[in-house]
Amino acid sequence: MNPRIREWLLGPAYFHHRRLIEESKKWDAERIRNWQRKHLSPLLTRYSDAVRDKSEYRENPDRFTRWCLPGFTVIGRTGGTTALPLSFRMDRFARRQKERAYIFDIWSEAGYRPFDNLVVFRGKTGRGLITYNRRENTWILSPSKLTPQTGAAALRALNRIGPFFLNVFPSTLFILIDLLGADAFGSLPIRGVLAGSEMFPQSQMRSFSDRFGFPLIHWYGHSEYAALAKYCPECSGFHFYPTYGYTEFLPLDGDESRVRIVATSFNRIGTQFVRYDTGDLARPSSRTCTRPFERVDAIEGRIQEYFVDRNGVNRSMVTFLFAIHNRFWDILREIQFIQRMPGRLTVRTILKDPEEQAWLEKFLRERFEPVDLDFEYPETIARTATGKLRYFISADGVKSALDS
Ligand SMILES: [Zn+2]
Repeated sequence: MNPRIREWLLGPAYFHHRRLIEESKKWDAERIRNWQRKHLSPLLTRYSDAVRDKSEYRENPDRFTRWCLPGFTVIGRTGGTTALPLSFRMDRFARRQKERAYIFDIWSEAGYRPFDNLVVFRGKTGRGLITYNRRENTWILSPSKLTPQTGAAALRALNRIGPFFLNVFPSTLFILIDLLGADAFGSLPIRGVLAGSEMFPQSQMRSFSDRFGFPLIHWYGHSEYAALAKYCPECSGFHFYPTYGYTEFLPLDGDESRVRIVATSFNRIGTQFVRYDTGDLARPSSRTCTRPFERVDAIEGRIQEYFVDRNGVNRSMVTFLFAIHNRFWDILREIQFIQRMPGRLTVRTILKDPEEQAWLEKFLRERFEPVDLDFEYPETIARTATGKLRYFISADGVKSALDS
């Protein structure tokens, strides 16, 4: 596709935010405060300044939604680590354009420019092993189709692309390395690894960089599009973009070393998250950095969790479960996966409507193709001491063959 047409398709909100990002990098703290106050105060007037968690948005979705005209919004969904899903409305056009302005700014640190060759190995499970999207110039490598048996074919295809950027979740990055073999992975023409949306412990980032030497980019974002932060190689912390949303760090009861990430989105259309408790935690900033924007030392909200498939390969729960973006979340009240032995998962579900059983089982069996599934439909699912529903429990001793 003609590069100029592609660029034009990035859309007006993309170019607006692109400018805003560049300008805001030169602002001082007061200028940032003034800009944020201007965008925040009408929202506080409309919704009050109370801090709200997911449950309020789940119970009163309409109260926080603006301009919900047919065709202008789409439904966004989040699974969340508490496994109670949340549906909300997102701007159909501008949100995606805005998102790309920020994500591309994050990626640019590795030299990425819009529409450079990009290979994605995350949640999208394409129809084939590798699917090419011409408009985006993106190759989707399917996590469910990549197995020890198809690894060689995947390597041949990846080598044919020429230099490319690799977009992964931190957990899927290690699965990819396992499946392709470390030496073969290291010899791929990778210009940079773009690993976000999931926790990536610093020691893991460092050992990856030491071993492979590829530029590594990491960031924090969440499905509700209210807060976005970029990992900073200079201070090893995260800097939050002030024009993406307004982020606050509020105390956590009983834990002085961590703070809650509370965020306000500045979008005009769709669900407006205002002083929204994301459920994610951070370590507050203990030092300064020469780079722009407010920082925290670390983000400690989400953990990497794996199950072991029938070939003994580690599979990321985030990829298989939280990357689902269809009606699956709507028919559920609660869900929990239990692994007692490799290659097999027990799915415990409470459905809103028991008639959805057949659809659910068929959908999950296709989705979780690398393992066998058993289904249980209990009346209740036990919680942890802190009241959280664990969406995934792995019995001790279930380990991948690749761990040893
Ligand atoms: Zn920094």
